Amino acid sequence: MRRKIVAGNWKMNGSKDLVSSLVGQVRSELAPLDNGVEVVIIPPALYVSDVVALAGSQIAVGVQNVACWDSGAYTGEIAAGMARDAGCSYTLVGHSERRQLFGETDSQVAAKVDRALASGLGAVICVGETLEEREAGKAEEVVSAQVRKAVADVGAEQWQQVVVAYEPVWAIGTGKTATTEDAQAMHASIRAVLMSLGAPADEVSLLYGGSVKADNAAALFAQPDIDGGLIGGASLSAKDFVSICRALP
Ligand code: 13P
Repeated sequence: MRRKIVAGNWKMNGSKDLVSSLVGQVRSELAPLDNGVEVVIIPPALYVSDVVALAGSQIAVGVQNVACWDSGAYTGEIAAGMARDAGCSYTLVGHSERRQLFGETDSQVAAKVDRALASGLGAVICVGETLEEREAGKAEEVVSAQVRKAVADVGAEQWQQVVVAYEPVWAIGTGKTATTEDAQAMHASIRAVLMSLGAPADEVSLLYGGSVKADNAAALFAQPDIDGGLIGGASLSAKDFVSICRALP
């Protein structure tokens, strides 16, 4: 059985006030939820401890990025072990904003996945093509290469810590989502890539991200290879985020 996951990536948004209002509301509205969804809140790292303190047992917490190293003279970086120590159970790795705005490379992504898994975190590996790549008919090729490079060093016993989030770059923050057919096709293709690498592909959760909202989540989550979502903008509203959590079958 694959885990069903809805993760809210706050990106560089939020405040102590938002943490206290939103986490409490999500927690109380989720309490009666029994669809087995694992809910993850991924705030800016400075607020992780505040979210952990309020989250309760039904909400897991994650960071948006970790370093390629465990400790040392790397000013401004946060190690996966520190995130774990602070109460996180997940980290995003290789979000397209990190790849595009901060020049994160496939080999750095692989190193971060390695450090995250070794530290006991779940790694939500983000992959996705640009509009140009999709229009050139290269979406599957690009995403497949990103997946292969990111998981190159994953050990046989570590797959249960791996989650892949397909986020087409052109759908992030734009209000455009992939059609359910295109999203399903890409998720099936990612699962086939994992299978070809010898991973227990049927057990790896695959999430869709990119303009997921309360009104389109159910159709996406109904697809056989989509096991949940990675939510940006809509995760900043408790009402919308909880509606998306409820949209999982
Ligand atoms: P939006 O939901 O705001 O499009 O962001 C998606 C995303 O990048 C989540 O990581």
